[in-house]
Amino acid sequence: MQVDERGYYGQFGGAFIPEMLYPNVEELRTTYRSIMERQSFKKEFDGLLKTFVGRPTPLYLASRLSEKYKAKVYLKREDLCHTGAHKVNNTVGQIILAKHLGKSKIIAETGAGQHGVATATVCALMGMECIVYMGKLDMERQKPNVERMKILGAAVIPSLSGSMTLKDATNEAMRHWISHPEDTHYIIGSVVGPHPYPDMVARFQSVISKEIRSQLTEEQGNPYPDYVIACVGGGSNAAGAFYHFVEEQHVNLIGVEAAGKGVDTGESAATTVLGKPGVLHGSKTLLMQTADGQVIEPYSISAGLDYPGIGPMHAHLFDVGRVRFLNATDEEAMNAGIALSRLEGIIPAIESAHAVAALDKLTFDTEDVVVINLSGRGDKDLETYIRWGKY
Ligand SMILES: *Cc1c(COP(=O)(O)O)cnc(C)c1O
Repeated sequence: MQVDERGYYGQFGGAFIPEMLYPNVEELRTTYRSIMERQSFKKEFDGLLKTFVGRPTPLYLASRLSEKYKAKVYLKREDLCHTGAHKVNNTVGQIILAKHLGKSKIIAETGAGQHGVATATVCALMGMECIVYMGKLDMERQKPNVERMKILGAAVIPSLSGSMTLKDATNEAMRHWISHPEDTHYIIGSVVGPHPYPDMVARFQSVISKEIRSQLTEEQGNPYPDYVIACVGGGSNAAGAFYHFVEEQHVNLIGVEAAGKGVDTGESAATTVLGKPGVLHGSKTLLMQTADGQVIEPYSISAGLDYPGIGPMHAHLFDVGRVRFLNATDEEAMNAGIALSRLEGIIPAIESAHAVAALDKLTFDTEDVVVINLSGRGDKDLETYIRWGKY
């Protein structure tokens, strides 16, 4: 799991950035580890995770789900984090880091708006100016999140170029950062982007597996599950859930991607099945692309998994066979989300429902301990559940 000096995990990673951005990324690269090790940093981060985010999140033994799958199934309840998902673990970490770097302004880009909301939330918390770039088309599709960001005091700037979606918003955020290097920090929302972002975000999210270890020790006398299952968009909740188990070869790590309408339909986001090595958002990774290297538009019913690549760490863990990747279609995920609601009284985010759907694709021994990282709650997806209708 350790990234090398140049930001590589095996053949994946690195920092493929325009020269103009080099000073910003270099400042971060040379300082992030030492800042994160400061006592004052740790104290504030741990304190806010506890009192603002609501950590530790419970590790819940889902007994009716366990009965159905004939194994001990636990849910790591990231859906109970403030703002309803794991993303806030990372934004809390990065905003404290920004303060240590002497930055007073924050920029971010967002697709579905979840990362934008998590960023606007911590900017309000710290009284920092917040600008979120978002494709104009995405703003129309994700109106409630746009309004949430505005209520929190963020400026949401529509990107009018290209397809008016995430990649255009990313380009504009980069451009802003290049012209404001002194006072601005750019918060990336997953384990993607140029080094050091993937490693930094994974470290902030690693609190998830740290807690799983201590919670399982308390429950069963040892820290090891047999399986950890997490959905993978960019891969930050999975990175957090896997982090402290990667060296333990006997723990099966399962990443679940969105198959959309099916991996062979042309409407999918299953990067490990369809992707080839290439450069995306500043790092070398696996991405869905045409023969001449054009990024293929991904598709998933769940906005958070609708991403054409995966973080370089996951590309590497897939490459070396340490993480097994499965995928779930829209239909499998929706059915799993509704089943979880009925069996356990928990309506999951549709992203997280993909992880639950993996239970149908694995076979367990009755003694197996299975931890599903439930990355978020389903409130934001109510419209999608209603449109789906089959409940
Ligand atoms: C954003 C999001 C994801 C996907 O992002 P990762 O970086 O892969 O974790 C998954 N679940 C929820 C609830 C999300 O909001």
